[in-house]
Amino acid sequence: MDFELTEEQKEIKRAVREFTEKEFKPEIAREYDLKEEFPWEIYRKCAKLGFIAPHFEEEYGGQGLSFFDYLLIIEELCRADSTLGTAMITGPFGGELIHMFGSEEQKKKYLPPITRGEWVSSAAFTEPNHGSDITFLETTAKPEGDHYIINGTKTLITNAPIASFIVVLCQVKPEAGVKGQSLFVVDRDVEGLDITKIEHKMGIKASPIGEISFNSVRVPKNALVGCEFMGFYHSMEFFDVTRVGVAAQALGMAQGAYEKALKYAKERMQFGRRLSDFQVIQHKLVDMATALESARLLVYKAAWYIDKGRIIPELSCMAKNLATSTAVKVVNDALQIFGGYGYISDYDIERYYRDVRITEIYEGTTEIQKNIAARFLLGK
Ligand SMILES: Cc1cc2nc3c(=O)[nH]c(=O)nc-3n(C[C@H](O)[C@H](O)[C@H](O)COP(=O)(O)OP(=O)(O)OC[C@H]3O[C@@H](n4cnc5c(N)ncnc54)[C@H](O)[C@@H]3O)c2cc1C
Repeated sequence: MDFELTEEQKEIKRAVREFTEKEFKPEIAREYDLKEEFPWEIYRKCAKLGFIAPHFEEEYGGQGLSFFDYLLIIEELCRADSTLGTAMITGPFGGELIHMFGSEEQKKKYLPPITRGEWVSSAAFTEPNHGSDITFLETTAKPEGDHYIINGTKTLITNAPIASFIVVLCQVKPEAGVKGQSLFVVDRDVEGLDITKIEHKMGIKASPIGEISFNSVRVPKNALVGCEFMGFYHSMEFFDVTRVGVAAQALGMAQGAYEKALKYAKERMQFGRRLSDFQVIQHKLVDMATALESARLLVYKAAWYIDKGRIIPELSCMAKNLATSTAVKVVNDALQIFGGYGYISDYDIERYYRDVRITEIYEGTTEIQKNIAARFLLGK
């Protein structure tokens, strides 16, 4: 066991930090938060440096980095800014399903524009009546000759308003439940696709979400991603990996908030002393740092197993839960250290506070992570 990052990993972190110090100006982040738009220009620069889906193989424009290395990048981007960092990491979401389960033809078509920063993608599971429970879906795909006809509605889908393609989980055999679902890749410009942006969410406002209606959308047979009727199982395996990415996103945001609070505590004077001279504040900072360090160890361990080709669902769930609950608490504590200024947008902590909250909800809520982990721990 070696807790030290390699020289290459330290260099990756340094390179991301150099990029974010130049591009992630707080006033720019505040502007995107206000106008609720995707920061395309910064995204393309980020891609040029190889930070978008760097774990994709070189033949698809990636860097062939390990998943662990990718987590270091996610953490560093979100540490630098919770809003812009999140926008940088969500673009490949649908592409990841193709990366994990797609055909060679699909990988060649869909992955290079992602790593070049030209396209962003969506992965659509959630429906108005099916969020945590996707064991049955109302979005259907009906085989018809050489095609499938997709009908239904997906909602709360990240990047839907700007995605070039969507990977969608559909019910193909309604009577077969989870054994009757398949994944399909749908190009944005197909007939019958209707996408509406969902406005005014609480945080991560530079990452747009939307509702997608499929009205008799016709896709060819080769739009199937992975194996027929394995869509649900592919999706579960996908989340076992990507939710560790959410854990790193949360850790990064909380690390950023902690560092801001530490700096502020050393500057702010009250009662003739710096805040950091009060033992209560010192202890709060130590508790925040301790919680972050311990959550990080679990997240890195989950990533380490993924790189070894051993996906351990309960470990991914535990890592996501520990990291996200720790992050929400740490950002809250950071806001407390800022006092009233923490509540004002000029100091950015309130934005981190709004942004970090989603990590306990998407890619499986905290409660659902516990349900999954319990199933594995109890051998059910
Ligand atoms: C900003 C944002 C981005 C998103 N991006 C995407 C995306 O890209 N793709 C996508 O498919 N979805 C996306 N989602 C949807 C997200 O994954 C769902 O909101 C989430 O899975 C929860 O589903 P729900 O909102 O329907 O809540 P529900 O499933 O209705 O749950 C409501 C509450 O009940 C709890 N609950 C439900 N069932 C149980 C149970 N069995 N035991 C205990 N508690 C339970 C939940 O934990 C939660 O607290 C996004 C959501 C948001 C807000």
